[in-house]
Amino acid sequence: MRLHLSTWQEVETYLQTSKAILIPIGSTEQHGPNGLIGTDALCPEIIGGLAAESGLLMAPTFNIGVAQHHMEFPGSMTLRPSTFIATMVDWVDSLAKHGFTHFYWLNGHGGNIATINAGFAEIYASRSLDTGNGRTPIRCKLRNWWQGKETYEKCKALYGKAHGAHATPSEVAVTQFAYPDHIKTAPLSPEIAPSGGYTDARDYRARFPDGRIGSNPALATPEDGELLAKLAAKEVTADFERFAAEQ
Ligand SMILES: [Zn+2]
Repeated sequence: MRLHLSTWQEVETYLQTSKAILIPIGSTEQHGPNGLIGTDALCPEIIGGLAAESGLLMAPTFNIGVAQHHMEFPGSMTLRPSTFIATMVDWVDSLAKHGFTHFYWLNGHGGNIATINAGFAEIYASRSLDTGNGRTPIRCKLRNWWQGKETYEKCKALYGKAHGAHATPSEVAVTQFAYPDHIKTAPLSPEIAPSGGYTDARDYRARFPDGRIGSNPALATPEDGELLAKLAAKEVTADFERFAAEQ
């Protein structure tokens, strides 16, 4: 069930049996020569969409992330961490107003993790400091789509050391499964991109000239993407149900 494809009456009915919602959260940023700029937002949306077939409610995708380090590549977009946190707070407050209490953030971008956790701290602080005690207690959870044991093991088995850290074959494969008309090919040299750290966008582009880090996304296939997306959706659904039952 998807929030933006539901009516208010359907959401009202859902709230009678569940107060939990899945929010895909990602980023709009370069993903190397054969990866779509939307990859990090598309992956949690695709996997969350499969999970939502079980009946859980999925929010619209929070699709601009913390991606300052990609800003030397055309098409990349970023929020400042402070804007990102403020936006998370407004999303949660909007949904909490209707009675949602459990917020399951399904993330697709490693660069969001620190700021999502800071967002949770801000959300909890605003409740802890509310002297009126008027706000319903809520719970937030961060889950990366690749984090499930079976999904993680499958990524390792499929790609080994060519998996890398950015523009990975697994995430490119998931988008190829969902968007077969948008599969891109490009020469990749070296085959496996360099690895390492970075600071700002200029530093990143100097170290990783084609945008990839440690990966060989030419290994991606839509067939593997289907397998990974369905595996991840199965693990996410079970994890969401456990979270929704937490008091
Ligand atoms: Zn990515």
